[in-house]
Amino acid sequence: MSGIVVIAEQRRGELRPVSLELVSTAQALRRPGEEVSVAILGKAPESFVKALSVVGVDEIVTVKVASPEFDPDTFESAVGALIAARTPDVILTAHSVDSFGFAAALATRLGLGFATDVFNAARIDGEIVATRGGYGQKVNVEMDFPGRSTVLLAIRGNVFKAPEQAPAPRVTAFDAPQVASRAAAREFIELSAGDDVDMAAAEFILAIGRGIGDEAKVPQFRELADAIGATLGCSRPIADAGWLPKSRQVGQSGKTASACKLYIAMGVSGAIQHLAGMKHVSTIVAVNSDAEASIFGVAKYGIVGDIFEIADELRRLF
Ligand SMILES: Cc1cc2nc3c(=O)[nH]c(=O)nc-3n(C[C@H](O)[C@H](O)[C@H](O)COP(=O)(O)OP(=O)(O)OC[C@H]3O[C@@H](n4cnc5c(N)ncnc54)[C@H](O)[C@@H]3O)c2cc1C
Repeated sequence: MSGIVVIAEQRRGELRPVSLELVSTAQALRRPGEEVSVAILGKAPESFVKALSVVGVDEIVTVKVASPEFDPDTFESAVGALIAARTPDVILTAHSVDSFGFAAALATRLGLGFATDVFNAARIDGEIVATRGGYGQKVNVEMDFPGRSTVLLAIRGNVFKAPEQAPAPRVTAFDAPQVASRAAAREFIELSAGDDVDMAAAEFILAIGRGIGDEAKVPQFRELADAIGATLGCSRPIADAGWLPKSRQVGQSGKTASACKLYIAMGVSGAIQHLAGMKHVSTIVAVNSDAEASIFGVAKYGIVGDIFEIADELRRLF
């Protein structure tokens, strides 16, 4: 068994960004000389070749299927046929609504090692080790797969950085057996987001932590965020307490501030799990009354002071 096969995702003719993150994950797992192939399934899979031509891809495998959109039977059958033909030692899919429909079934049918919602993957002493949350994301669990020659990992999105574009690699067409699917996509319905925000897409975030003290203080920071044009985010204790929705939590078990350019952290200590979602941001401003707080270790600008005083000052300016 050798080779890494990435199963790219597309929806309504658009490549889903997580597809490129899977290529980055593959780099951490590839053995010297091992190839990374990216398979794309669709009615016109060759239309994705340009978007999939990124650093780290040795081959793009186009798999023509009858269904224009994802459907579980088609994917299970086509990806199964690809695994049988290529005998890779690792298969990577997104941890997404699409992979929910086929990955577990495939892993069971083929006897693959299998882990979902993986946010870190490495090869240690030659063995695949996948990290995911356990006990409601309260602990990190490292999984290995003894006795499994092929491992399928469903990778969490917005964790890995997408690679740079590159010249097109080798492109190969793969003939998958066509199956009569039991499902068909009829229409797409956009769900109303409600308070749900896309933290991964936010370019300017004002994040609040336990330093705000109590729930009654949340509205004043929400108002400040609106006034300065920031998206309000938070650390985990704020989301766990229900003061803000989980969708606004930044960090290892929350969202990664992938597109963020300016991150203001107020009353956030800078625990390693919070940093996991934001330490890459180029401009981090931290406000904390404790000069020793770890958040200052990643901040470009730091204010040792009271968040309420600084919030009032900022509010006066806007
Ligand atoms: C498996 C696992 C996953 C986790 N995932 C996440 C995650 O995704 N995101 C996340 O955030 N955490 C996560 N955590 C929790 C993480 O370990 C920390 O407990 C959490 O980040 C702490 O949040 P905080 O900084 O808001 O609170 P605290 O650590 O309590 O910090 C509060 C800070 O506010 C400061 N402060 C208090 N009052 C004021 C004031 N008036 N003015 C200025 N500063 C003040 C204090 O000095 C302190 O530094 C996870 C933990 C585990 C075990």
